[in-house]
Amino acid sequence: MRIKLQALGCRLNEAELQTWARQLQRQGHRIAGDSEAADLVVINTCAVTAEAVRKSRKLLRRARRADPQARLVVSGCFASLEGDALAREQGVDLLVPNRDKDRLVTIAARELDLDARAQGASQPTTNPLFTRGRQRAFVKVQDGCRYRCTFCIVTLARGSERSRPLAEVIAEIDRLGTEGIQEIVLTGVHLGGYGSDLQSDLSALLRAVLADTDMPRIRLGSLEPWDLPETFWELFENPRLMPHLHLPLQSGSDTVLRRMARRCGTGDFARLVGTARERVADFNVTTDIIVGFPGETRAEWQQTLAFVEALGFGHLHIFPYSPRAGTRAATLPGQLDERTKKDRSRQLHALGRRMKLRALAPYVGRRLPVLIEGRYGGASTDAWFGYTPNYLPVRIPGGGTEDPTNRILDLTLTAVHTDGDHLIGHP
Ligand code: SF4
Repeated sequence: MRIKLQALGCRLNEAELQTWARQLQRQGHRIAGDSEAADLVVINTCAVTAEAVRKSRKLLRRARRADPQARLVVSGCFASLEGDALAREQGVDLLVPNRDKDRLVTIAARELDLDARAQGASQPTTNPLFTRGRQRAFVKVQDGCRYRCTFCIVTLARGSERSRPLAEVIAEIDRLGTEGIQEIVLTGVHLGGYGSDLQSDLSALLRAVLADTDMPRIRLGSLEPWDLPETFWELFENPRLMPHLHLPLQSGSDTVLRRMARRCGTGDFARLVGTARERVADFNVTTDIIVGFPGETRAEWQQTLAFVEALGFGHLHIFPYSPRAGTRAATLPGQLDERTKKDRSRQLHALGRRMKLRALAPYVGRRLPVLIEGRYGGASTDAWFGYTPNYLPVRIPGGGTEDPTNRILDLTLTAVHTDGDHLIGHP
């Protein structure tokens, strides 16, 4: 069969898609590109914000229009929360809730009789990532979360914590290595909770990945700023572990953090980042901030701006608060109007731009290895792009005949680009 796979939302959704693609290829099916016709479409939905829900619905409608004859399989947080109502509404042939998504291919094969249409089992020739123009692989190591941050719908949609056995993770990374992947991102819902159900922890996982695989570049996905093992920072002495962490702060005001039921106050957060900067050379920290959380006063907002400015971040992901039905925060008093959220987002974006310049400028004149991920801004340009080990974006002016995609090149970083959001590098 020709199978189309699409995902919205987090890296975990992307990692799951990659695993399904591989399993389907092994059964003899072919992974179709987005512009090709398909016999089966698999969509991994998202529900983290109202906007994500709107996009999930749109993707389902578009899939129906693009491939009216195809069977439609839906999974992910939106599908898990909405259930059969969504399936009926969107003409879905099979809905696989999050608790069963690790067995999605088996369930689909059984329920939709896929085997009958398979061209006979075979070893995937190329990594489906490359056919999708990707050079970095997301590896799911953990799912679910024991915490209940009051704004979070993910913990409700993905259930309790469960970790993938170490041997399975190592085997997947080795396989990716044999297929030419040079960089992986270990990802989960609460990555810091890895091993909580296996008498193990994140450090043990990283130690094993560094010791038992040859993967050149190992990154960590989004990591809650707590539950980190004592031995965590020493692992960054290994240059294959990339010196960048995405640590969601969410707010720079302790009173807001308490209403969010976050496990980390601004003091703890500042100490954690301080330790990282002390222990790890070129350490880059990026973060998530929710703007306009219920009841957020002007004073609390000023605290957030001041804390973010004082600590400094390589990049900010900014989310205007989006009430999610079923979460405690959605019923909190003091819901802010959209205009206030927009104003505050604008202020934070402006601060984010200033901070990015401050983060990039010290690297001018340095020489760093960059994994080239493809053409900058699509096929029409002759420039390439990639990231340094500490996740700083770099553009490489073209002009060479050779395609350097998926190669790690030592580049001299010669300037910060005039738009202020990436560096310029030359081999
Ligand atoms: S720790 Fe993260 S995944 Fe868990 S409830 Fe909080 S925001 Fe959600």
